[in-house]
Amino acid sequence: MLASKMLLSTLKDAPQEAKISSHILLLRAGMMKNEVAGVFNYLPLGLRVLNKIENIIREEMDATGAQEILCSAIQPKELWEESGRWSKYGPELFRFTDRHDREFCLGPTHEEVFTSIARDLVKSSKSLPLNIYQIQTKYRDEVRPRFGLMRGREFIMKDAYSFDKDENGLEKSYQAMADAYSKIFSRLGLKFRVVLADTGAIGGNGSHQFMALSEVGESDIVYCDCGYAADVEKAESLPNEYVDDSMGEVVEKINTPNTGTIEELKEFLNRDPRAMAKTIIYHDYLNEKFVAVMVRGDREVNEIKVVNALNTTENELVLATPEEILSLGSVHGFCGPCGLNVELLVDEEVSKMKSMLVGANEKDYHLINVKFGRDFTGTVGYFRKATKGDLCPVCGKPMSQERGIEVGQIFKLQTKYSAPMKATFVNEENKNVPMVMGCYGIGVTRTMAAIIEQYHDEAGIIWPLQVAPYQAVIVPINYKDESQSKLANEIYEKLKKEHVEVILDDRDAKPGFKFKDWELIGIPYMIICGKKSSENIVEFKVRSNVNNKEEISVEDAISRVSSAIKDL
Ligand code: ATP
Ligand code: MG
Repeated sequence: MLASKMLLSTLKDAPQEAKISSHILLLRAGMMKNEVAGVFNYLPLGLRVLNKIENIIREEMDATGAQEILCSAIQPKELWEESGRWSKYGPELFRFTDRHDREFCLGPTHEEVFTSIARDLVKSSKSLPLNIYQIQTKYRDEVRPRFGLMRGREFIMKDAYSFDKDENGLEKSYQAMADAYSKIFSRLGLKFRVVLADTGAIGGNGSHQFMALSEVGESDIVYCDCGYAADVEKAESLPNEYVDDSMGEVVEKINTPNTGTIEELKEFLNRDPRAMAKTIIYHDYLNEKFVAVMVRGDREVNEIKVVNALNTTENELVLATPEEILSLGSVHGFCGPCGLNVELLVDEEVSKMKSMLVGANEKDYHLINVKFGRDFTGTVGYFRKATKGDLCPVCGKPMSQERGIEVGQIFKLQTKYSAPMKATFVNEENKNVPMVMGCYGIGVTRTMAAIIEQYHDEAGIIWPLQVAPYQAVIVPINYKDESQSKLANEIYEKLKKEHVEVILDDRDAKPGFKFKDWELIGIPYMIICGKKSSENIVEFKVRSNVNNKEEISVEDAISRVSSAIKDL
């Protein structure tokens, strides 16, 4: 490709709204352009990268025997009513009505559609197991579309769905997908970790996420050397007991002015927050009730565990307002379990405290020497967020914490969709039974951003060779110089013959300007034709090693690039 003919649009600065490297660099390098938050147009360079990511995914999916199809983004309301999700999915679902007043949504995911396909097309158990997938555009009206491709309102996903005769079959299909995902993310060059995950709105009974490790990731992971690793929403840890010897036996009400937070209370009483328990009141709109959750003073509530315990949804579990708390007979900042007439969920760690300090449901007062079982009771469960240093639930050693970008997630759906939607088959005992399903997603566009997060420097993107938009660029220092342009053209033709995806920078521009562009765009190899062109000597630069510039013969330069791409 000649640079003069390319739709290049590099920018010196990224627009204000871009906050993280991948977003900034995707815009600056002219990989994409956007008009509306969370909605993107992919330009030639960006699309080439996306196509390469998709092809790696496709190769590994096909290798498992999965078959590719392509579904519409438009899905009828009726299908979503069959699964029960039309009313449950909430404001993320883009809904619309056609001219005949028929209701539809733009698919945020395709469980219903694929279940319907299997229901209609799988006639006999001979067709099972079946795994079908697509690489297609999804729509989610996210509350906060941000960080560019990380969280879009329109994004590309690879979604696969497996259909098996029984649980055993599902286990095999699930494992095959887990293995394929590891191969895909390894081939993409990502440093990633596979973690246990919550099943969220998709449902089912087992799930793993594939996390690309990165500080800008929105997911928190706790992990242990023994191999245990989980998203904090899912993670558990052994209770960490703390005994405050100064606590007595008799409940006392103490005056604690202006101590509406644990931090203020800690300062005022000079006590460890681990001797305190906090009581957080939520309004569960789905079940139309209030519920209080208790965790130790140094802990955070794990809202996902609360959502699961209450069988509600994340959208419908909201912190109670100070007014609502007053109407329940308590005071914001001073809530406590004693005498509070609200359903109480008690974290197991709190239930094991010998004695604790809690809010007195009265402004500026707390109760001390309170005991679970004697002074209050409630449903004990796991409601705290696991964090760094907590003890591993498998081996008991302290765990570490890191951040990740969720690039993929796999779920054992079992019969969550096939039972209500009646996607059945006739089994060996001549019985009509629902197919046992799994579903498997990869965020294709988010993966592109994750690769940039792991592969960039101050100058720009450093694409791994296997996904680079072009593999090499030839930059004549001065294209008007005859020996330079002649040599550049010769190399260009030879590399094309070797099937290298190569750009010839034939632009009439200063060399520094050209170098900057290709470093920003992240082309893996640069061959510079300068003063020694007449001697058949070029400068050779590898993008991943900016400080290294070698003078080598043209033959060496060509063979280095062509042998690198043969290894792909
Ligand atoms: P998140 O928790 O980040 O919102 P999710 O768990 O809702 O994601 P899934 O339903 O598991 O997402 O979708 C499969 C994959 O699609 C995710 O692992 C992620 O890589 C990608 N994905 C999900 N939402 C978005 C989005 N808004 N923008 C870009 N990619 C997304
Ligand atoms: Mg997910």
